[in-house]
Amino acid sequence: MYDVIIVGAGVIGTAVARELSKYQSKTALLEKNPEVCQGTTKANSAIVHGGYDALHGTLKGRLNRRGVELYPGLSKALNFPYQQCGSMVLAFNDEDEKKLEALMENGRKNGVEGMEILSGEDARKKEPALSKEITKALYAKNAGITCPFNMTYALLENAMENGVELFVNTEVDDIEHLTDGVRVKATKRVFEGKMLINCAGVYSDKIARMAGDEDYTITPNRGEYRILDRKVGDLVSHVIFQTPTPDGKGVLVAPTVHGNIIVGPTSESVDNPEDTRTTKEGIRKVDRSATKGVPGLPIKESIRIFSGIRASVEGSDFMIEPSKANKKIFHLVGIDSPGLASAPAIAEEVRKWVEETIPLKKKESFIEERRAIPHFEELTNKEKEEILKKNPHYKKIICRCEMITEGEIIEAIHRPGGATTLDGIKRRVRPGSGRCQGGFCGPRVLEILARELKLPMEEILKDGPHSKLLAGKLKGALQ
Ligand SMILES: Cc1cc2nc3c(=O)[nH]c(=O)nc-3n(C[C@H](O)[C@H](O)[C@H](O)COP(=O)(O)OP(=O)(O)OC[C@H]3O[C@@H](n4cnc5c(N)ncnc54)[C@H](O)[C@@H]3O)c2cc1C
Repeated sequence: MYDVIIVGAGVIGTAVARELSKYQSKTALLEKNPEVCQGTTKANSAIVHGGYDALHGTLKGRLNRRGVELYPGLSKALNFPYQQCGSMVLAFNDEDEKKLEALMENGRKNGVEGMEILSGEDARKKEPALSKEITKALYAKNAGITCPFNMTYALLENAMENGVELFVNTEVDDIEHLTDGVRVKATKRVFEGKMLINCAGVYSDKIARMAGDEDYTITPNRGEYRILDRKVGDLVSHVIFQTPTPDGKGVLVAPTVHGNIIVGPTSESVDNPEDTRTTKEGIRKVDRSATKGVPGLPIKESIRIFSGIRASVEGSDFMIEPSKANKKIFHLVGIDSPGLASAPAIAEEVRKWVEETIPLKKKESFIEERRAIPHFEELTNKEKEEILKKNPHYKKIICRCEMITEGEIIEAIHRPGGATTLDGIKRRVRPGSGRCQGGFCGPRVLEILARELKLPMEEILKDGPHSKLLAGKLKGALQ
Protein backbone atom coordinates (compact mmCIF):
# COMPACT_ATOMS: atom_id res chain seq x y z
CA MET A 1 0.00 0.00 0.00
CA TYR A 2 1.47 3.34 -1.09
CA ASP A 3 0.48 6.54 0.64
CA VAL A 4 0.31 8.39 -2.66
CA ILE A 5 0.22 7.20 -6.27
CA ILE A 6 1.01 9.88 -8.86
CA VAL A 7 -0.07 9.24 -12.45
CA GLY A 8 2.13 10.99 -15.03
CA ALA A 9 5.79 12.02 -14.85
CA GLY A 10 5.96 15.36 -16.63
CA VAL A 11 7.10 18.49 -14.82
CA ILE A 12 3.92 18.48 -12.72
CA GLY A 13 4.06 14.83 -11.59
CA THR A 14 7.78 15.06 -10.77
CA ALA A 15 7.32 18.39 -8.91
CA VAL A 16 4.53 16.83 -6.82
CA ALA A 17 6.68 13.73 -6.20
CA ARG A 18 9.62 15.85 -5.04
CA GLU A 19 7.41 17.96 -2.76
CA LEU A 20 5.92 14.82 -1.16
CA SER A 21 9.40 13.29 -0.77
CA LYS A 22 10.04 15.92 1.94
CA TYR A 23 7.59 13.96 4.09
CA GLN A 24 7.45 10.41 5.40
CA SER A 25 5.16 9.20 2.67
CA LYS A 26 5.60 6.17 0.43
CA THR A 27 5.06 7.51 -3.07
CA ALA A 28 4.85 5.75 -6.45
CA LEU A 29 5.20 7.72 -9.70
CA LEU A 30 3.64 5.90 -12.68
CA GLU A 31 4.56 6.82 -16.25
CA LYS A 32 3.28 5.11 -19.39
CA ASN A 33 6.29 6.03 -21.51
CA PRO A 34 9.76 4.45 -21.33
CA GLU A 35 11.05 7.63 -19.70
CA VAL A 36 9.83 10.71 -17.85
CA CYS A 37 9.42 14.07 -19.66
CA GLN A 38 7.92 12.66 -22.85
CA GLY A 39 4.59 14.56 -22.82
CA THR A 40 3.91 18.30 -23.06
CA THR A 41 6.92 19.02 -20.86
CA LYS A 42 9.24 18.02 -23.69
CA ALA A 43 7.93 20.69 -26.12
CA ASN A 44 7.05 24.18 -24.92
CA SER A 45 8.48 27.72 -24.83
CA ALA A 46 10.38 27.17 -21.54
CA ILE A 47 9.36 30.57 -20.19
CA VAL A 48 8.89 31.27 -16.49
CA HIS A 49 6.16 33.83 -17.14
CA GLY A 50 6.22 36.97 -15.01
CA GLY A 51 2.63 36.45 -13.80
CA TYR A 52 0.99 39.61 -15.22
CA ASP A 53 -0.89 37.77 -17.98
CA ALA A 54 -2.79 35.10 -16.01
CA LEU A 55 -6.13 36.65 -14.97
CA HIS A 56 -6.35 37.98 -11.42
CA GLY A 57 -8.60 35.84 -9.24
CA THR A 58 -7.78 32.62 -11.09
CA LEU A 59 -5.65 29.70 -9.93
CA LYS A 60 -3.29 30.50 -12.81
CA GLY A 61 -2.83 34.07 -11.53
CA ARG A 62 -2.05 32.95 -7.98
CA LEU A 63 0.12 29.92 -8.79
CA ASN A 64 2.13 31.61 -11.57
CA ARG A 65 3.14 34.36 -9.17
CA ARG A 66 4.05 31.92 -6.41
CA GLY A 67 5.95 29.79 -8.94
CA VAL A 68 8.09 32.79 -9.92
CA GLU A 69 8.91 33.29 -6.22
CA LEU A 70 10.00 29.66 -5.85
CA TYR A 71 12.14 29.32 -9.00
CA PRO A 72 15.37 30.98 -7.81
CA GLY A 73 15.64 28.80 -4.68
CA LEU A 74 14.52 25.60 -6.41
CA SER A 75 16.85 25.97 -9.40
CA LYS A 76 19.74 26.63 -7.02
CA ALA A 77 19.01 23.66 -4.78
CA LEU A 78 18.45 21.25 -7.66
CA ASN A 79 21.04 22.76 -9.98
CA PHE A 80 18.97 23.21 -13.13
CA PRO A 81 19.24 26.20 -15.50
CA TYR A 82 17.10 29.27 -14.81
CA GLN A 83 17.76 32.86 -15.84
CA GLN A 84 15.69 35.84 -14.84
CA CYS A 85 16.20 37.63 -18.16
CA GLY A 86 13.02 39.78 -18.14
CA SER A 87 10.34 40.02 -20.79
CA MET A 88 8.75 42.64 -23.04
CA VAL A 89 5.28 42.75 -24.55
CA LEU A 90 5.32 44.90 -27.69
CA ALA A 91 2.78 47.52 -28.76
CA PHE A 92 2.55 48.84 -32.33
CA ASN A 93 -0.50 51.14 -31.98
CA ASP A 94 -3.00 52.70 -29.55
CA GLU A 95 -5.06 49.55 -29.28
CA ASP A 96 -1.96 47.50 -28.31
CA GLU A 97 -0.96 50.18 -25.81
CA LYS A 98 -4.33 49.83 -24.09
CA LYS A 99 -3.66 46.09 -23.82
CA LEU A 100 -0.30 46.83 -22.16
CA GLU A 101 -2.06 49.02 -19.58
CA ALA A 102 -4.56 46.23 -18.90
CA LEU A 103 -1.77 43.65 -18.52
CA MET A 104 0.11 45.93 -16.14
CA GLU A 105 -3.02 46.47 -14.05
CA ASN A 106 -3.71 42.73 -13.97
CA GLY A 107 -0.10 42.11 -12.97
CA ARG A 108 -0.35 44.65 -10.14
CA LYS A 109 -3.45 42.89 -8.83
CA ASN A 110 -1.58 39.56 -9.00
CA GLY A 111 1.20 41.12 -6.92
CA VAL A 112 3.81 41.12 -9.70
CA GLU A 113 6.67 43.52 -9.05
CA GLY A 114 9.21 45.11 -11.39
CA MET A 115 6.90 46.03 -14.28
CA GLU A 116 7.05 49.25 -16.25
CA ILE A 117 5.79 50.55 -19.57
CA LEU A 118 8.71 51.68 -21.72
CA SER A 119 8.65 54.04 -24.69
CA GLY A 120 9.54 52.45 -28.03
CA GLU A 121 12.93 54.15 -27.86
CA ASP A 122 13.71 52.85 -24.34
CA ALA A 123 12.59 49.36 -25.35
CA ARG A 124 15.03 49.45 -28.30
CA LYS A 125 17.82 50.64 -25.98
CA LYS A 126 17.32 47.50 -23.91
CA GLU A 127 16.78 45.27 -26.94
CA PRO A 128 18.36 46.78 -30.07
CA ALA A 129 16.95 44.12 -32.45
CA LEU A 130 13.36 45.34 -31.92
CA SER A 131 11.38 46.91 -34.76
CA LYS A 132 11.35 50.70 -35.18
CA GLU A 133 7.56 50.43 -35.47
CA ILE A 134 7.21 49.60 -31.78
CA THR A 135 5.51 52.43 -29.91
CA LYS A 136 5.66 51.01 -26.34
CA ALA A 137 6.59 47.85 -24.45
CA LEU A 138 5.56 46.36 -21.12
CA TYR A 139 8.78 45.33 -19.40
CA ALA A 140 8.63 42.68 -16.64
CA LYS A 141 11.85 42.22 -14.75
CA ASN A 142 10.95 38.93 -13.07
CA ALA A 143 10.14 36.86 -16.17
CA GLY A 144 12.68 34.18 -16.94
CA ILE A 145 13.72 31.14 -18.92
CA THR A 146 14.49 27.59 -17.82
CA CYS A 147 15.14 24.15 -19.28
CA PRO A 148 11.93 22.09 -18.81
CA PHE A 149 13.83 18.82 -19.37
CA ASN A 150 16.63 19.44 -16.93
CA MET A 151 14.17 20.79 -14.41
CA THR A 152 12.05 17.62 -14.68
CA TYR A 153 15.07 15.31 -14.43
CA ALA A 154 16.36 17.31 -11.46
CA LEU A 155 13.00 17.04 -9.67
CA LEU A 156 12.87 13.31 -10.45
CA GLU A 157 16.42 12.50 -9.34
CA ASN A 158 15.95 14.38 -6.08
CA ALA A 159 12.54 12.79 -5.47
CA MET A 160 14.02 9.32 -6.07
CA GLU A 161 16.99 10.04 -3.86
CA ASN A 162 14.43 10.85 -1.19
CA GLY A 163 12.57 7.58 -1.64
CA VAL A 164 10.00 8.07 -4.44
CA GLU A 165 9.63 4.94 -6.58
CA LEU A 166 9.38 5.45 -10.36
CA PHE A 167 7.60 2.93 -12.61
CA VAL A 168 8.06 3.58 -16.34
CA ASN A 169 6.33 1.65 -19.15
CA THR A 170 3.40 1.59 -16.71
CA GLU A 171 0.16 2.82 -18.27
CA VAL A 172 -2.78 3.25 -15.92
CA ASP A 173 -5.89 1.76 -17.51
CA ASP A 174 -8.33 1.26 -14.64
CA ILE A 175 -9.06 2.81 -11.23
CA GLU A 176 -11.11 1.08 -8.54
CA HIS A 177 -12.36 2.78 -5.36
CA LEU A 178 -11.47 1.09 -2.04
CA THR A 179 -12.89 2.08 1.34
CA ASP A 180 -9.49 3.38 2.37
CA GLY A 181 -8.08 4.54 -0.98
CA VAL A 182 -7.69 3.35 -4.55
CA ARG A 183 -6.60 0.33 -6.58
CA VAL A 184 -4.89 1.19 -9.86
CA LYS A 185 -4.51 -1.30 -12.66
CA ALA A 186 -1.59 -0.53 -14.92
CA THR A 187 0.56 -2.41 -17.43
CA LYS A 188 1.68 -5.64 -15.79
CA ARG A 189 0.97 -4.45 -12.21
CA VAL A 190 -1.66 -3.48 -9.71
CA PHE A 191 -0.95 -0.67 -7.24
CA GLU A 192 -2.90 0.26 -4.12
CA GLY A 193 -2.66 3.67 -2.51
CA LYS A 194 -4.30 5.79 0.17
CA MET A 195 -4.42 8.64 -2.38
CA LEU A 196 -4.08 9.16 -6.11
CA ILE A 197 -2.91 12.35 -7.84
CA ASN A 198 -3.82 12.63 -11.52
CA CYS A 199 -1.01 14.52 -13.33
CA ALA A 200 -1.56 12.91 -16.73
CA GLY A 201 -1.39 16.10 -18.85
CA VAL A 202 -3.41 15.83 -22.07
CA TYR A 203 -4.81 12.52 -20.78
CA SER A 204 -5.89 13.78 -17.36
CA ASP A 205 -9.56 13.87 -18.50
CA LYS A 206 -9.22 10.18 -19.46
CA ILE A 207 -7.79 9.30 -16.03
CA ALA A 208 -10.61 11.31 -14.40
CA ARG A 209 -13.18 9.27 -16.35
CA MET A 210 -11.52 6.06 -15.08
CA ALA A 211 -12.21 7.39 -11.57
CA GLY A 212 -15.87 8.07 -12.45
CA ASP A 213 -15.53 11.84 -13.05
CA GLU A 214 -17.10 12.63 -16.41
CA ASP A 215 -17.01 16.44 -16.18
CA TYR A 216 -13.62 17.14 -17.73
CA THR A 217 -12.87 17.58 -21.42
CA ILE A 218 -9.44 18.47 -22.71
CA THR A 219 -9.20 20.04 -26.14
CA PRO A 220 -5.65 19.42 -27.33
CA ASN A 221 -4.10 22.58 -28.74
CA ARG A 222 -0.95 22.47 -30.84
CA GLY A 223 1.85 25.04 -30.85
CA GLU A 224 4.56 24.98 -33.54
CA TYR A 225 8.09 26.34 -33.18
CA ARG A 226 11.48 27.00 -34.74
CA ILE A 227 14.82 26.73 -32.95
CA LEU A 228 17.66 28.87 -34.32
CA ASP A 229 21.34 27.98 -34.25
CA ARG A 230 23.49 29.09 -31.34
CA LYS A 231 25.59 31.28 -33.60
CA VAL A 232 22.69 33.80 -33.70
CA GLY A 233 21.74 33.19 -30.07
CA ASP A 234 22.72 36.64 -28.79
CA LEU A 235 20.31 38.53 -31.08
CA VAL A 236 17.80 38.97 -28.23
CA SER A 237 18.34 38.86 -24.49
CA HIS A 238 14.72 39.21 -23.26
CA VAL A 239 11.59 37.17 -23.91
CA ILE A 240 9.78 39.19 -26.61
CA PHE A 241 5.98 38.77 -26.75
CA GLN A 242 3.36 40.32 -29.01
CA THR A 243 0.18 41.58 -27.31
CA PRO A 244 -2.07 38.66 -26.33
CA THR A 245 -5.03 37.60 -28.49
CA PRO A 246 -8.05 35.41 -27.59
CA ASP A 247 -5.81 32.48 -28.70
CA GLY A 248 -3.24 33.17 -25.99
CA LYS A 249 0.06 34.92 -25.49
CA GLY A 250 0.95 34.79 -29.19
CA VAL A 251 4.27 34.19 -30.92
CA LEU A 252 7.40 34.96 -28.90
CA VAL A 253 11.08 35.30 -29.69
CA ALA A 254 13.26 34.31 -26.76
CA PRO A 255 16.76 33.23 -25.83
CA THR A 256 17.05 29.68 -24.48
CA VAL A 257 19.19 28.77 -21.47
CA HIS A 258 21.42 26.82 -23.89
CA GLY A 259 22.18 29.84 -26.09
CA ASN A 260 19.75 29.24 -29.00
CA ILE A 261 16.73 31.33 -29.95
CA ILE A 262 13.23 29.86 -29.79
CA VAL A 263 10.48 31.29 -32.02
CA GLY A 264 6.79 30.34 -31.72
CA PRO A 265 4.26 28.97 -30.86
CA THR A 266 1.09 28.89 -32.94
CA SER A 267 -2.22 27.93 -31.34
CA GLU A 268 -4.47 25.44 -33.10
CA SER A 269 -7.03 23.00 -31.71
CA VAL A 270 -6.42 19.43 -32.88
CA ASP A 271 -8.41 16.21 -32.40
CA ASN A 272 -5.55 13.92 -31.46
CA PRO A 273 -3.38 14.70 -28.40
CA GLU A 274 -0.49 12.89 -30.17
CA ASP A 275 -0.72 15.05 -33.32
CA THR A 276 2.63 16.81 -33.06
CA ARG A 277 2.91 17.48 -36.78
CA THR A 278 4.48 20.69 -38.00
CA THR A 279 2.86 22.43 -40.94
CA LYS A 280 3.98 24.88 -43.61
CA GLU A 281 1.13 27.26 -42.68
CA GLY A 282 1.95 27.06 -38.97
CA ILE A 283 5.63 27.80 -39.43
CA ARG A 284 4.85 30.64 -41.90
CA LYS A 285 2.57 32.15 -39.26
CA VAL A 286 5.38 31.91 -36.69
CA ASP A 287 7.84 33.61 -39.08
CA ARG A 288 5.42 36.42 -40.01
CA SER A 289 4.55 37.22 -36.43
CA ALA A 290 8.09 36.96 -35.06
CA THR A 291 9.68 39.16 -37.72
CA LYS A 292 7.09 41.87 -37.07
CA GLY A 293 8.70 42.50 -33.68
CA VAL A 294 12.26 41.44 -34.52
CA PRO A 295 12.70 42.23 -38.25
CA GLY A 296 16.27 40.96 -38.57
CA LEU A 297 15.49 37.51 -37.17
CA PRO A 298 17.71 35.13 -39.20
CA ILE A 299 15.10 32.44 -39.89
CA LYS A 300 17.52 30.73 -42.30
CA GLU A 301 19.56 29.71 -39.25
CA SER A 302 16.78 27.38 -38.14
CA ILE A 303 18.09 23.98 -36.95
CA ARG A 304 14.80 22.35 -36.00
CA ILE A 305 11.04 22.78 -36.14
CA PHE A 306 8.78 20.99 -33.68
CA SER A 307 5.42 21.25 -31.93
CA GLY A 308 3.91 20.66 -28.50
CA ILE A 309 0.34 19.97 -27.35
CA ARG A 310 -1.42 22.06 -24.71
CA ALA A 311 -3.95 20.40 -22.38
CA SER A 312 -6.55 23.16 -22.84
CA VAL A 313 -9.95 23.23 -21.15
CA GLU A 314 -13.03 25.44 -21.40
CA GLY A 315 -12.71 28.38 -19.03
CA SER A 316 -8.93 28.15 -19.41
CA ASP A 317 -8.04 28.04 -15.70
CA PHE A 318 -6.12 25.21 -14.03
CA MET A 319 -8.50 22.71 -12.45
CA ILE A 320 -6.94 21.29 -9.27
CA GLU A 321 -9.61 19.61 -7.22
CA PRO A 322 -10.73 16.39 -5.55
CA SER A 323 -12.70 13.80 -7.49
CA LYS A 324 -16.46 13.91 -6.96
CA ALA A 325 -16.44 10.11 -6.79
CA ASN A 326 -13.65 9.67 -4.22
CA LYS A 327 -12.16 12.43 -2.05
CA LYS A 328 -8.85 10.54 -1.98
CA ILE A 329 -8.30 11.26 -5.67
CA PHE A 330 -7.08 14.67 -6.90
CA HIS A 331 -7.29 15.73 -10.49
CA LEU A 332 -4.96 18.25 -12.10
CA VAL A 333 -6.67 19.05 -15.40
CA GLY A 334 -6.09 21.86 -17.89
CA ILE A 335 -2.48 22.43 -16.86
CA ASP A 336 -1.52 24.36 -19.96
CA SER A 337 0.54 27.57 -19.91
CA PRO A 338 1.75 28.82 -17.39
CA GLY A 339 2.00 25.24 -16.07
CA LEU A 340 5.78 25.15 -16.24
CA ALA A 341 6.13 28.51 -14.47
CA SER A 342 3.62 27.40 -11.85
CA ALA A 343 4.91 23.83 -11.36
CA PRO A 344 6.67 24.40 -8.00
CA ALA A 345 3.59 26.23 -6.68
CA ILE A 346 1.21 23.56 -8.01
CA ALA A 347 3.28 20.98 -6.10
CA GLU A 348 2.85 23.01 -2.87
CA GLU A 349 -0.88 23.28 -3.52
CA VAL A 350 -1.22 19.51 -3.99
CA ARG A 351 0.82 18.81 -0.87
CA LYS A 352 -1.62 20.99 1.14
CA TRP A 353 -4.52 18.89 -0.22
CA VAL A 354 -2.70 15.67 0.66
CA GLU A 355 -1.98 16.95 4.18
CA GLU A 356 -5.70 17.55 4.72
CA THR A 357 -6.42 13.93 3.78
CA ILE A 358 -3.60 11.84 5.25
CA PRO A 359 -1.17 12.83 8.02
CA LEU A 360 2.21 13.95 6.64
CA LYS A 361 5.27 14.09 8.87
CA LYS A 362 8.45 15.93 7.81
CA LYS A 363 11.35 13.64 6.92
CA GLU A 364 14.43 14.53 8.99
CA SER A 365 16.70 12.84 6.45
CA PHE A 366 15.37 14.82 3.45
CA ILE A 367 18.19 15.62 1.00
CA GLU A 368 17.41 19.06 -0.35
CA GLU A 369 20.14 19.45 -2.94
CA ARG A 370 21.06 17.69 -6.15
CA ARG A 371 24.12 18.24 -8.35
CA ALA A 372 23.76 18.50 -12.13
CA ILE A 373 25.80 16.34 -14.51
CA PRO A 374 28.96 18.40 -15.09
CA HIS A 375 29.34 19.77 -18.63
CA PHE A 376 33.06 19.13 -19.20
CA GLU A 377 33.45 21.96 -21.72
CA GLU A 378 32.38 24.55 -19.12
CA LEU A 379 34.66 23.35 -16.28
CA THR A 380 37.83 25.13 -15.22
CA ASN A 381 41.14 23.42 -16.03
CA LYS A 382 41.48 22.38 -12.39
CA GLU A 383 37.98 20.88 -12.35
CA LYS A 384 38.72 19.07 -15.63
CA GLU A 385 41.87 17.53 -14.16
CA GLU A 386 39.95 16.40 -11.06
CA ILE A 387 37.14 14.80 -13.04
CA LEU A 388 39.52 13.06 -15.47
CA LYS A 389 41.40 11.48 -12.55
CA LYS A 390 38.15 9.83 -11.45
CA ASN A 391 36.57 9.18 -14.85
CA PRO A 392 38.61 9.08 -18.11
CA HIS A 393 35.37 8.87 -20.17
CA TYR A 394 35.16 12.67 -19.84
CA LYS A 395 38.12 12.87 -22.25
CA LYS A 396 36.22 11.54 -25.26
CA ILE A 397 34.05 14.02 -27.20
CA ILE A 398 30.94 12.32 -28.66
CA CYS A 399 28.92 15.35 -29.81
CA ARG A 400 31.09 17.89 -31.63
CA CYS A 401 28.36 20.52 -32.04
CA GLU A 402 27.66 20.79 -28.29
CA MET A 403 31.03 19.36 -27.12
CA ILE A 404 29.47 16.57 -25.06
CA THR A 405 31.75 13.88 -23.66
CA GLU A 406 31.16 10.17 -23.20
CA GLY A 407 31.40 10.70 -19.44
CA GLU A 408 28.34 13.01 -19.48
CA ILE A 409 26.33 10.47 -21.50
CA ILE A 410 27.27 7.58 -19.20
CA GLU A 411 26.27 9.62 -16.16
CA ALA A 412 22.90 10.48 -17.76
CA ILE A 413 22.23 6.74 -18.11
CA HIS A 414 23.18 5.79 -14.56
CA ARG A 415 21.49 8.61 -12.60
CA PRO A 416 18.28 7.63 -10.70
CA GLY A 417 15.50 7.30 -13.31
CA GLY A 418 18.28 7.59 -15.91
CA ALA A 419 18.10 7.75 -19.70
CA THR A 420 17.18 4.64 -21.68
CA THR A 421 16.40 6.27 -25.04
CA LEU A 422 18.28 8.35 -27.60
CA ASP A 423 16.10 11.40 -26.96
CA GLY A 424 16.39 10.87 -23.21
CA ILE A 425 20.15 11.36 -23.59
CA LYS A 426 19.61 14.36 -25.86
CA ARG A 427 17.32 16.08 -23.37
CA ARG A 428 19.60 15.39 -20.41
CA VAL A 429 23.03 16.27 -21.81
CA ARG A 430 22.33 17.60 -25.36
CA PRO A 431 24.07 15.42 -27.95
CA GLY A 432 21.86 15.85 -31.02
CA SER A 433 20.71 19.36 -30.01
CA GLY A 434 23.28 21.17 -32.13
CA ARG A 435 23.57 22.03 -35.78
CA CYS A 436 23.89 18.43 -37.05
CA GLN A 437 20.84 17.34 -34.99
CA GLY A 438 22.41 13.99 -34.16
CA GLY A 439 23.58 13.09 -37.68
CA PHE A 440 27.12 12.63 -36.43
CA CYS A 441 26.73 11.63 -32.78
CA GLY A 442 23.44 9.66 -32.93
CA PRO A 443 24.98 6.26 -33.80
CA ARG A 444 27.71 6.70 -31.19
CA VAL A 445 25.13 7.52 -28.51
CA LEU A 446 23.18 4.40 -29.54
CA GLU A 447 26.31 2.30 -29.05
CA ILE A 448 26.93 3.77 -25.60
CA LEU A 449 23.29 3.22 -24.55
CA ALA A 450 23.40 -0.41 -25.74
CA ARG A 451 26.71 -1.05 -23.97
CA GLU A 452 25.72 0.58 -20.67
CA LEU A 453 22.20 -0.93 -20.58
CA LYS A 454 23.53 -4.31 -21.76
CA LEU A 455 20.97 -4.45 -24.57
CA PRO A 456 21.31 -5.18 -28.28
CA MET A 457 21.48 -1.91 -30.27
CA GLU A 458 18.29 -2.89 -32.15
CA GLU A 459 16.36 -2.67 -28.85
CA ILE A 460 17.25 0.97 -28.17
CA LEU A 461 14.32 3.36 -28.66
CA LYS A 462 14.38 6.88 -30.02
CA ASP A 463 11.67 8.15 -27.65
CA GLY A 464 8.24 6.56 -27.19
CA PRO A 465 7.35 2.87 -26.76
CA HIS A 466 7.25 2.03 -30.51
CA SER A 467 10.24 3.98 -31.74
CA LYS A 468 12.96 1.43 -32.44
CA LEU A 469 15.64 2.97 -34.62
CA LEU A 470 17.28 -0.15 -36.03
CA ALA A 471 15.46 -3.04 -37.72
CA GLY A 472 18.27 -5.60 -37.40
CA LYS A 473 21.84 -6.38 -38.35
CA LEU A 474 22.68 -5.70 -42.00
CA LYS A 475 25.24 -8.52 -42.01
CA GLY A 476 22.66 -11.04 -40.79
CA ALA A 477 20.04 -9.82 -43.28
CA LEU A 478 22.40 -10.33 -46.22
CA GLN A 479 23.39 -13.88 -45.28
C1 LIG B 1 3.17 25.05 -27.17
C2 LIG B 1 3.28 25.13 -25.67
C3 LIG B 1 3.96 26.19 -25.07
C4 LIG B 1 4.04 26.29 -23.70
N1 LIG B 1 4.82 27.25 -23.14
C5 LIG B 1 4.89 27.36 -21.80
C6 LIG B 1 5.74 28.33 -21.20
O1 LIG B 1 6.52 29.00 -21.87
N2 LIG B 1 5.68 28.47 -19.85
C7 LIG B 1 4.85 27.73 -19.08
O2 LIG B 1 4.80 27.97 -17.88
N3 LIG B 1 4.10 26.75 -19.61
C8 LIG B 1 4.12 26.54 -20.95
N4 LIG B 1 3.39 25.54 -21.50
C9 LIG B 1 2.65 24.66 -20.61
C10 LIG B 1 3.55 23.60 -20.01
O3 LIG B 1 4.37 23.01 -20.98
C11 LIG B 1 2.66 22.54 -19.35
O4 LIG B 1 1.83 23.19 -18.43
C12 LIG B 1 3.44 21.47 -18.62
O5 LIG B 1 4.48 20.94 -19.39
C13 LIG B 1 2.45 20.37 -18.25
O6 LIG B 1 3.15 19.35 -17.60
P1 LIG B 1 2.39 18.03 -17.17
O7 LIG B 1 3.32 17.29 -16.30
O8 LIG B 1 1.04 18.36 -16.66
O9 LIG B 1 2.10 17.25 -18.54
P2 LIG B 1 3.01 16.24 -19.36
O10 LIG B 1 4.38 16.72 -19.52
O11 LIG B 1 2.26 15.92 -20.61
O12 LIG B 1 3.06 14.95 -18.44
C14 LIG B 1 1.97 14.08 -18.30
C15 LIG B 1 2.52 12.67 -18.25
O13 LIG B 1 1.46 11.76 -17.99
C16 LIG B 1 1.75 10.57 -18.67
N5 LIG B 1 0.51 9.79 -18.81
C17 LIG B 1 -0.59 10.11 -19.52
N6 LIG B 1 -1.51 9.13 -19.41
C18 LIG B 1 -0.99 8.17 -18.59
C19 LIG B 1 -1.47 6.92 -18.11
N7 LIG B 1 -2.67 6.43 -18.46
N8 LIG B 1 -0.67 6.19 -17.30
C20 LIG B 1 0.57 6.66 -16.94
N9 LIG B 1 1.07 7.84 -17.40
C21 LIG B 1 0.30 8.59 -18.20
C22 LIG B 1 2.28 11.07 -20.01
O14 LIG B 1 3.01 10.07 -20.70
C23 LIG B 1 3.14 12.25 -19.58
O15 LIG B 1 4.48 11.89 -19.36
C24 LIG B 1 3.35 25.36 -22.89
C25 LIG B 1 2.70 24.28 -23.48
C26 LIG B 1 2.71 24.14 -24.86
C27 LIG B 1 2.11 22.95 -25.50
